[in-house]
Amino acid sequence: MGAWERSIFQDGTIPEMDKVQGWMRYIDDIWFVWEGTMDELHRLMNKLNDNSLNIHLTYKCGRKLDFLDLKIEVLDDGTITTDLYRKPTSTNSLLHYSSSHPASTIRGIPIGQFLRARRICSQQEAFEEQAVDLVCRFSNRGYSKKSIRRGYKRAINTPRAKLLHPPIKKCHSNMEEPVRFISNFNNQWNELRKILNKHWNILKSDPILRKVIPTSPQMVAKRSQNIKDLLVHSHYDSSRNIKKRALPDGFFPCGFCKACLNLRRTFSFSNWNGSKNYEIRKHLTCASRGVIYYAKCPCEMIYIGLTTRELKIRVREHIRDIEKAATIEDISILKTLPRHFKAHHKCNPRGLIIWGIDQVELGIRGGDLGQVLAQYESRWIFRLGTLTPQGLNENLGFNAFL
Ligand SMILES: [Zn+2]
Ligand SMILES: [Zn+2]
Repeated sequence: MGAWERSIFQDGTIPEMDKVQGWMRYIDDIWFVWEGTMDELHRLMNKLNDNSLNIHLTYKCGRKLDFLDLKIEVLDDGTITTDLYRKPTSTNSLLHYSSSHPASTIRGIPIGQFLRARRICSQQEAFEEQAVDLVCRFSNRGYSKKSIRRGYKRAINTPRAKLLHPPIKKCHSNMEEPVRFISNFNNQWNELRKILNKHWNILKSDPILRKVIPTSPQMVAKRSQNIKDLLVHSHYDSSRNIKKRALPDGFFPCGFCKACLNLRRTFSFSNWNGSKNYEIRKHLTCASRGVIYYAKCPCEMIYIGLTTRELKIRVREHIRDIEKAATIEDISILKTLPRHFKAHHKCNPRGLIIWGIDQVELGIRGGDLGQVLAQYESRWIFRLGTLTPQGLNENLGFNAFL
């Protein structure tokens, strides 16, 4: 859709496009202001529908239109007003107040919904109307008057102009980044938080840890298993094989993520002394999971690692660990890469180059991804000879094979 859109704007072969103002697209829904006659509009739509990509547009025009969650109207004086649009068939699907979610999530929902109405409704009367509807819907879902009022007040006290621009996210420097405690959410979550905060000072009393841990940890809840997860799934996955086959082998960084600074587009890799070359036989990117990766430091030493998560997340962790190593005096607590970079490269991770070389894909019946990856990792460490002193891997684990 994006390529088609670019082509119609760049080619200049459709003269009617000059009368299009404010073209907006969300996935496959498009909205624009038309400044020509109806005949010209029909002609434009016919031309747009004449394409080799099999894109067929249907359209509606008028001074009042529904687009995504907006009701848009052009007034007689030419101004455009917006109001919230809900499908007449939509039900009250707000999360129930008694749902087993973190209290902060439940508390945030009225605030989020009132702010959304405030942002979308350009006229005060329209907002008030939507607010009344929201109050009814929240009451029906068991929310207290207090929590509804809090949401309404927050919206009414926030200038709409401020809501129309996404807030600028605060950037943490590496040392300010909070330590996160991540776990599945359950009913004892608040108790857990209290225990963790109460005993956090034990960790802080340690002279080495004190320098790297903040005042208190940040608790992050993951969704626990729900009934949908527990039910039996179909093993049939139609997209799996067809999609993969079309993609070329090699490692391809996305070019947009932070990890990409240390990632390189690569098709092969060699063993520790360069006497043997191997080709990458998978299509891998920064976002690939279950990957064996190859890290080369400025002095050409190789480290082989594994991750069950997205490669870019693991790479960022390595970079942060290396940077943090500058502030840690006791090198015995450092992991392999940070220790090497502290000893030989002044904790500067810039010269570290990483790329994915292999990937584990479990069959339809699943299995232990961590264990299979550990087996792959051991094989690659052995084949490439990256154990110390030739490389940076410190041990060759056989546990994964037992
Ligand atoms: Zn990337
Ligand atoms: Zn090195």
